[in-house]
Amino acid sequence: MKACVFCKIVEGKIPSHKIYEDKQALAFLDINPITEGHSLVVSKKHYNHFLEADERELAELMKATKKVSEALKKALNAQGINIGINIGRAAGQLVDHLHIHVIPRHGNDGLKSWEGKPIENTEETLKKIKAVLG
Ligand code: 5GP
Ligand code: ZN
Repeated sequence: MKACVFCKIVEGKIPSHKIYEDKQALAFLDINPITEGHSLVVSKKHYNHFLEADERELAELMKATKKVSEALKKALNAQGINIGINIGRAAGQLVDHLHIHVIPRHGNDGLKSWEGKPIENTEETLKKIKAVLG
């Protein structure tokens, strides 16, 4: 995965502001942060996205994400945290290397959450999902 920017960061070929590292994960500040301290927890091994990753790898990545979240909360006095994973272009994924966004939040940071809308076609939706999940 020579062209992958996060692989290059993991290999130290591109500089980053690292905040945490363990055997499987590396965390660093996002270059274009949504809020102060917005960080990315990436797997050291290349996976294009969450759904392609090994389950044990994801479990380790989640542990690292918890550590990073706790640290950011404490260090920046955050009142909340958003944790996000984008899968695919339609969901806003721009870098095709598994990563988890950790976004410190404050009540007055002006960011809006996703807006919901009144529910429609519930039975049909449920039927489609259950046909896959059983
Ligand atoms: P995505 O939209 O793929 O979920 O998020 C990719 C994130 O990676 C974006 O928030 C973007 O700002 C960040 N990013 C892209 N390239 C770099 C880089 O070279 N260094 C760092 N630190 N962050 C990057
Ligand atoms: Zn990669």
